Amino acid sequence: MAGTRHLGIDLGATNLKWSVVEHDGDAWAVVAQDSVPTRAAGDPEGVPAAVVAQMAEVAETANEAWGPLASVGIGVPGLYDPLAGTVRLLVNLPGPWAGHPVAASIMAATGLPVALINDARAFGLAELRLGAARGASSMVGLTLGTGVGGVIAVDGRVHQGHDGTAGELGHQVIDPAGPPCGCGSNGCLEAYARADRIAAACGTAGVPEAVAAAQAGNARAIAGLAEIGRHLAIGIANMITVIAPDVVVIGGGVAQAGPPLFDPLLAELRSRVRMTSLDDVSIVLAELGTWAGSIGAAVHGAERVGLA
Ligand SMILES: [Zn+2]
Repeated sequence: MAGTRHLGIDLGATNLKWSVVEHDGDAWAVVAQDSVPTRAAGDPEGVPAAVVAQMAEVAETANEAWGPLASVGIGVPGLYDPLAGTVRLLVNLPGPWAGHPVAASIMAATGLPVALINDARAFGLAELRLGAARGASSMVGLTLGTGVGGVIAVDGRVHQGHDGTAGELGHQVIDPAGPPCGCGSNGCLEAYARADRIAAACGTAGVPEAVAAAQAGNARAIAGLAEIGRHLAIGIANMITVIAPDVVVIGGGVAQAGPPLFDPLLAELRSRVRMTSLDDVSIVLAELGTWAGSIGAAVHGAERVGLA
């Protein structure tokens, strides 16, 4: 083994996905990855401790099989305190997570340094180091799932802001008179482009059905995806105007929709981006799929301990 090895765990409500990555010079490689069902059932009071213990077990197992590990990164689906290593708010997991000492508990159990990162920022970091934005200096990333996750990178680093919340593209307001958003504001990009709104706009049960219906020529689904594409483009155009990025990376299920989504999206971008040349901005699909969060969490851990 030439480089150092780092574990990343993507803390999801359904599964814990994990990846071990090796870092050597400027090169990153995925060594192993797997997932286990998250222990989130039972009394909600006990869920944080059970899930944190499970993540420590994953780390010990990975350390024995693929180690020695130099760090652990955890991608959390919500807000956290980057200095204290505690969680502030997880939307989709049961239990009293606020203030839970996630990093300290896993550190105590494994003896390894542990760093937290938001799951969308982890997605972006993975695409920046190993995926569709490899080598880019500046990047804007969107991950379209249950909600709308976002990430920005400047000068080759994911910009975290003072508390890890920077890059919440989904909560930029694109219409001050728009529908309510789960964050408490209204007219946010997420209020238009989250999975349930995409399904509603297309008249389908879910996003995969919306994509399939549009590709099969269903008029309502085509109109629905066109509307989603235009709303996404307003948000992306704002980011392009502010950041002038090298690359815009779009991931998540609806990103597979192809022309029914991207033709209207690109047309709207052409009409909205006026300050920089859109021809010099690559608009690309994410490359790392559902593993991006765990890969990015591993990269974040490595960068936090100074081994990358
Ligand atoms: Zn919002």
